Amino acid sequence: MRNAGDGEFEINLVERRAKIGRGVAFGTSKDSHLLNVPAGRMGAFPDDIEHFHRWLTEKGHTFDAHDFVPRKIFGEYLREVFTDAADSRAKHVTLNLIDDEAVDMSVNADSGEVILRSGEIIQTDRVVLAFGNFMPPHPSVADLSFTKAEMYFQDPWNSGLYETITER
Ligand SMILES: Cc1cc2nc3c(=O)[nH]c(=O)nc-3n(C[C@H](O)[C@H](O)[C@H](O)COP(=O)(O)OP(=O)(O)OC[C@H]3O[C@@H](n4cnc5c(N)ncnc54)[C@H](O)[C@@H]3O)c2cc1C
Repeated sequence: MRNAGDGEFEINLVERRAKIGRGVAFGTSKDSHLLNVPAGRMGAFPDDIEHFHRWLTEKGHTFDAHDFVPRKIFGEYLREVFTDAADSRAKHVTLNLIDDEAVDMSVNADSGEVILRSGEIIQTDRVVLAFGNFMPPHPSVADLSFTKAEMYFQDPWNSGLYETITER
């Protein structure tokens, strides 16, 4: 949106989750889940890497640049960066937020199509794939019968996981 240039520009952002900007890494609601990079190096803009730390200070947080901040706060930051960019975009920039899942696509030399679960097809000049991390695969061993076990959890990021694990 910031680099849209002068001509008509349309962005279709397809997101299957309710909240934009969270993904696996920043979607947690637990304070104990900390970023693995210090605040002073987590800015969203490569040319302004301290942007996140300044944002924290503006919001009244007292973290210093070397602190590892809860992931959920970074999720709030990303959400605000996105909303600010959307709100201040130029008139010739159209932003469509599409609550759906991309299930297929086709591209040729100068255009592409993205097919959504609803059946809608988006015609586009460019496609950006930013779908984050996939669920980890099973370990690569011949006998996968353990994957049926109650105590085997394939998805470590499932938010209900901690409640499911019981002491045995
Ligand atoms: C557990 C974990 C911890 C991490 N910790 C850090 C950290 O501390 N610091 C750091 O700098 N980086 C960290 N990373 C890396 C960070 O997550 C990525 O660099 C960054 O979030 C990737 O951004 P993204 O927009 O590509 O993906 P994401 O932020 O994951 O967003 C992808 C989005 O695409 C949506 N999506 C996926 N497929 C489809 C589809 N087919 N249709 C519609 N929507 C779809 C998802 O719902 C999701 O909202 C971590 C990653 C993981 C997995």
